[in-house]
Amino acid sequence: MSANENTDGRLVVVSNRLPFTLKRAGDSGWRTDRSTGGLATAMGPILRRTGGIWIGWSGDSSDPQDERRQKTLKRWAERERYFAVDIPAETAAGFYEGYSNQTLWPLFHQFPSLLNFKPEHWQAYREANLRFRDVVLEHLRPGDIVWVHDYQLMLLPELLREAVPDARIGFFLHIPFPSSPIFRLLPRREELLQGLLGADYLAFHTYSYLQHFRASTLRILGLDSRMDRLEVGGRSVRLDALPIGIAPREFTELLARDAETIKRRDELRARFDGRRVLLGVDRLDYTKGIPERLRTFRRLLRQTPDLRGHVVLIQVAVPSREVIPMYKELRQEVDELVGKINGEFSTPDWTPITYIRRGIPPTELAALYALADLAWVTPLRDGLNLVAKEYVACQQDGAGVLVLSEFAGAASEMGEAFLVNPYDEERTAETIERALELPADTRRERMSALHKRVLRNNVFAWGDRFLANLREAANERAGNFSEKPQALPVESAVAAFQQAAQRRLLLDYDGTLVPYANRPQDAVPPAELAELLATLAADPATAIAVVSGRSRHDLESWFGEVKGLWLAAEHGAIMRSPETMRWELYRPDYTSDWKEQVSPVLEHFMDRTPGSLIEEKEFSLVWHYRMADPEFGEWLANELVSNLEQMLADTELRAYRGQKTVEVKPGWANKGEVLARLSHSAPHAEFCLAAGDDRTDEDLFARLREDAWTIHIGDRHTRAQYCLANSHELRRLLTRFAAAGRTESRTAG
Ligand code: UDP
Repeated sequence: MSANENTDGRLVVVSNRLPFTLKRAGDSGWRTDRSTGGLATAMGPILRRTGGIWIGWSGDSSDPQDERRQKTLKRWAERERYFAVDIPAETAAGFYEGYSNQTLWPLFHQFPSLLNFKPEHWQAYREANLRFRDVVLEHLRPGDIVWVHDYQLMLLPELLREAVPDARIGFFLHIPFPSSPIFRLLPRREELLQGLLGADYLAFHTYSYLQHFRASTLRILGLDSRMDRLEVGGRSVRLDALPIGIAPREFTELLARDAETIKRRDELRARFDGRRVLLGVDRLDYTKGIPERLRTFRRLLRQTPDLRGHVVLIQVAVPSREVIPMYKELRQEVDELVGKINGEFSTPDWTPITYIRRGIPPTELAALYALADLAWVTPLRDGLNLVAKEYVACQQDGAGVLVLSEFAGAASEMGEAFLVNPYDEERTAETIERALELPADTRRERMSALHKRVLRNNVFAWGDRFLANLREAANERAGNFSEKPQALPVESAVAAFQQAAQRRLLLDYDGTLVPYANRPQDAVPPAELAELLATLAADPATAIAVVSGRSRHDLESWFGEVKGLWLAAEHGAIMRSPETMRWELYRPDYTSDWKEQVSPVLEHFMDRTPGSLIEEKEFSLVWHYRMADPEFGEWLANELVSNLEQMLADTELRAYRGQKTVEVKPGWANKGEVLARLSHSAPHAEFCLAAGDDRTDEDLFARLREDAWTIHIGDRHTRAQYCLANSHELRRLLTRFAAAGRTESRTAG
């Protein structure tokens, strides 16, 4: 489902800051500033598309009772649906500058030596999270989806879960998750992990962050997990790696249509004509590697005199968190370094570094991105880094070079960039020099691959996937899936069957009528099963169907001779009615030419995964990895589904995770659709029973009326009302039905 199909509840975004910040404006009251930074840039467009509300700290702790202040916040709520959380000044300081930015931030960015922990900061962090919880609870309506963002709110998922056990909660971490030996250094690490585990769905930018999280939950809480889920307190928490994207058009449109941006770009081009422009854009933060970059630039100029006069470095540094001493020191260090380098190399008509220490407007930023010959994005550690993607988006047909730190999350999906270790200043300088010397065609080739990916994996695709995965995870936990279905009351079922004038039975095959075999071809029905089905089907009051993922060939060879039996093959894509005995396509205009495109993708995964294989059916292709290494198989299955989702987005095809399988088939080929086609048989069935063991059967359970007898075979999460332990028990039940049918027809006769 795409995020803008807002079918079930609103989206409630919760983040530390809103896109607006409340600022004291002297005696005249308060003013509203727009916040900058990755999250505001990313979430704004998603929320505009999905509707819903945004909850976050106002940014101001003065005078909450003041009428003018309250009026401003009321306006935010009415006009924008932004709801402010008020946090008293002292709590805000301990929460934000304290635990968030002096404990979590340095540690999560792998700077344990900068960690500063104070117990009162922790108390403030907890207190602030409670305040966020209260505002969320004030606005939360049943069915809403809550999307909590980032490291300031890591306790919130669990706090919400305690208050509203069936709330649908997702959490995205925008910063790195540190390796477990580093995470273990954190005071209050247990509470933080437990806080996060209140979510239904937890996502990180990269697989390595996800792996680090799993290692930490294992070591610290003793919780084992799979690559994509973790069981805790009888609940499943879905885990994922989902790197954020940008809204490329916010930049490309400026460059294509905005007169001011175009004028600015042309002015800058004229000003730097004949010179290569290197660009750095960062918040002034020690994680961004700005001094390292400046020293590298100095090295470059020292060792390559030819570059002097021919290159400039434009460094935009946006001041940030300036009340924290570390940030003030950094600002000083950078100021001094810029001064020294410019002092060492400047000439009357050339200054090597243009240093802009303030935020710049989007028009200026877009013009710089378009102008720069090279973007120098070398954080020492960064959750993802949006600047790298924004630069690439602005290089339409450009020959720009992206030099990217391998310690930025973005590196995991930007392989065509020039990846460097920013601590190694010598080799970074060499890479920059080499990159500048490359022919334009080579540079363009690398940039074009990056450009396409940045446009495709944009923030909307990210948001859609996050929300779809969150909905699925939450539904699986709570929605329609009961935690534990009750054991089928066999006698009542038999009595209800017997009393009904018309009945309908819908039975899955593998795992339901017969147990699984190691190889699918070995799961052949015993002769007595066909006889049992024949007996049931012979009763004109009973319509009975085998509804399976198997091919029509298999079903025909096993049950082709059974009179009166409906057969639905390939999840209902093709059915045989007992009257016509002809197979009919659910969609007569269906063609399978998509397989040519999808096969190579599955083959690629088959080649990478020893023990996996591909099965071709009429309507689907299936990648089976039952025999592969379990963790590796799960990981690849995730990756495969994610590749396929992008590839299939505009088609009727969908990729489904099954029992150690990934199956690609048309969305309409699902067992839920079978029901409509059977409705003319036994149209007044008072007794309707469906049995199945697998996720595909859940589609059928979902479509049935509440009074139907839905039976899950096995003990997994299901939306079925009842369960039976195995196929043997189901066949015993069917044998009772057959006998009851006979008794009844004798009585009637
Ligand atoms: N940015 C901005 N004003 C500026 C310079 C940059 O708003 O003067 C934006 C930039 O466009 C990007 C964000 O700030 O979207 C920085 O995001 P990134 O992920 O690179 O780093 P973060 O600041 O989130 O650590």
